Amino acid sequence: MDRQKSAPDSRLDKKIRLEEIRLLYGGTPFSYSASFVIALIIYNVLLGHVSSPQNLDIWLFTILGILFVRSVDSYLFSTKDKKEQSRNSWRIRFFAGTGIAGFCWGLLPWLGYSSEIEYFSFIIVCLVGVIAGSLSTLSYRWETIALFLLPASLLLVLRLIIEDQTFFNATSFVLLVFIFFSLTAGKKIFNNTQQNIRLRLEADTREHAIELMHQKQALHLQNTPLAIIEFDIDLNVTEWNKAAERIFGYSRAEAIDENVMRLVLLRDSSDEAEKLWQQLLSYQPVIGAVIENKTKSGTPVICEWFVTPLTGEQNEIVGIAAMALDISDKKQTELAILKSKEEAEKANQAKSDFLSSMSHELRTPLNAILGFTQLLKYEKTLTEKQQSHIREISNAGNLLLELVNQILDLARIEKGHLQLSMEKVALADCFKEVRAMILPLAEKNNLKLNISTDISGYVIADFTRLKQVMLNLLSNAIKYNIDNGSVTLKVLQKENNVVRISIIDTGKGISEELLHEIFQPFNRLNAASKIEGTGIGLSISKQLVEMMDGNIGVSSKINDGSEFWIELSGNLNNTATMESESLTHAAEQRPSPASITGHNILVAEDNPTNQTLILSQLEALGYAADLAKNGQEALNMMVNTDYQLLLTDCNMPLVDGYKLASTIRERGNQQLPIIALTADAFPEKKTECFKAGMNDHITKPADLQTLKDTLEKYLN
Ligand code: ADP
Repeated sequence: MDRQKSAPDSRLDKKIRLEEIRLLYGGTPFSYSASFVIALIIYNVLLGHVSSPQNLDIWLFTILGILFVRSVDSYLFSTKDKKEQSRNSWRIRFFAGTGIAGFCWGLLPWLGYSSEIEYFSFIIVCLVGVIAGSLSTLSYRWETIALFLLPASLLLVLRLIIEDQTFFNATSFVLLVFIFFSLTAGKKIFNNTQQNIRLRLEADTREHAIELMHQKQALHLQNTPLAIIEFDIDLNVTEWNKAAERIFGYSRAEAIDENVMRLVLLRDSSDEAEKLWQQLLSYQPVIGAVIENKTKSGTPVICEWFVTPLTGEQNEIVGIAAMALDISDKKQTELAILKSKEEAEKANQAKSDFLSSMSHELRTPLNAILGFTQLLKYEKTLTEKQQSHIREISNAGNLLLELVNQILDLARIEKGHLQLSMEKVALADCFKEVRAMILPLAEKNNLKLNISTDISGYVIADFTRLKQVMLNLLSNAIKYNIDNGSVTLKVLQKENNVVRISIIDTGKGISEELLHEIFQPFNRLNAASKIEGTGIGLSISKQLVEMMDGNIGVSSKINDGSEFWIELSGNLNNTATMESESLTHAAEQRPSPASITGHNILVAEDNPTNQTLILSQLEALGYAADLAKNGQEALNMMVNTDYQLLLTDCNMPLVDGYKLASTIRERGNQQLPIIALTADAFPEKKTECFKAGMNDHITKPADLQTLKDTLEKYLN
């Protein structure tokens, strides 16, 4: 900090030193001319009255020689530029020259000595005059005064003392007083001169800085893209720069002295302007106010304003300074971006809505196709060829159902409608269920499935969705495997409480270039067309894992196999040793008809195809049932008959399934098992069913085995 402060000071000191030496040299033409004339006069007066004329000649030549040399030095100094002049050598030369000159003048009473008292007095007067005169030209430095005055006067005093006459003694005393006062006066003059020089230079510097600032301000004022407008308390424009001309269309001449409000404000914005004006009158600046203004031609222009009041000596408001930036383009771009964002969001929403409703609508006919196909499968009268066709229809139907379910999931994730219920999921439970579900597919493909359930540990996840992801990865590992290959599930504890679940297959692997596209929706890479698939399973898996705050990834080697892994928060207490599942081929069996007959089952279903299907399914399972076409009809039928179980669709006219269930419960019938049969596969629907008082939920198309198990569970 000190250094920062001293830098400008030392610059000023340098300037002062330069100024001093310039003033000292500047005074030389006058002082040298005067010295020259005085020396000649003294010589002429003393000639013929001195003890030694030769000595007087020597003195004169010495004085003239000194004057000549110093005049040459002065001339040389005047030819140099400021930088050269500020060299220290000029000071040294000037100081030395002054000292020598003082000494030479001091030699006058010695070399020009006259025994005639009036001539010697003349010498005293001349020397005192020269010394007094030198004060004015040498006072720019007190050292120069001393260097001239001391040798000149002291040599004179010495000469007077040697004479030892009363008159001279008295004179020498007066001279000593004169020397003292001259030196003191010289020092004072020097101090004042110094101060003057300093003040003058400081003022010069300040003036220069102010001038520079004005120049800069003028430049900025003219070239800035900001409109700079000033107006007085009566709102009359006093300043109007080029940018203001450009933005508002009025030239400076047109704008000056005009009312600023009239120039730039739209008629209907006066309320807003009044508010800002009041703000300014209470000494508060306006910062970043966006106002719709108008140009000379009446075109609207949106400006951002920065306005501040200007105050006078008594802190009264004397005017207003305002800056305005034309942000019309920026605003338009912002609006365009906002509009296109809204449109994109709308389009995306429309796409999700379409996918959602389309897949929902597809489920109803699919329900019938799959249900009847399943019934046909068990028809004993069909030929082998017909059975094979039925299997084809069933496979295709199932694939279509998977696709519909996945599209529904995707749409719900995109719409943000998918809700997860995160909990501690015991890995053993999860693996057990997943193994049971995937085993038939592994057996069908002659693959070895290594999934150990002997594991204790948990992950934080949504149980259903974790199973969905694992089933997707396992079914891929099976589908894209080779004959007699294997699929292994491994679990690993990683640092920071992260558990990695890996699914490793011995398939053909995925090439490096295709790996980065693998999680894109509807991208089947180069999967053989004979392998069934939709191309969205992995994309859904990724989104689900990320929603569970986890990660999913893959590494693969061509002809070596792939490893898909998911990482979730969790902990393993111990890792399990892998066991190989024994492969037993379970043949598809028709669920055996119910051993319990004579149950009174009521089915509430509005869709005729679904009515036929469910009644046929129940018949195949050995149950007879009554049919109600909607909830109202079901309620009416229950008045006369005591049913043991109610199977109800959810969406029906008049009274829907939820209302039907809640009415039954409200009427005090708590023991009747009510089972929902609905095309909605969403978990929320399930919750809604339970809330309405239902006991269970079967998703259409109902699988015969599921139907049988559920009925037996409640009828027993
Ligand atoms: P789908 O299996 O229905 O086609 P996915 O999204 O599950 O859709 O997988 C996308 C693509 O990634 C598959 O079509 C397949 O080409 C490739 N793929 C997925 N898993 C594996 C695997 N384990 N081995 C080789 N390729 C795989």
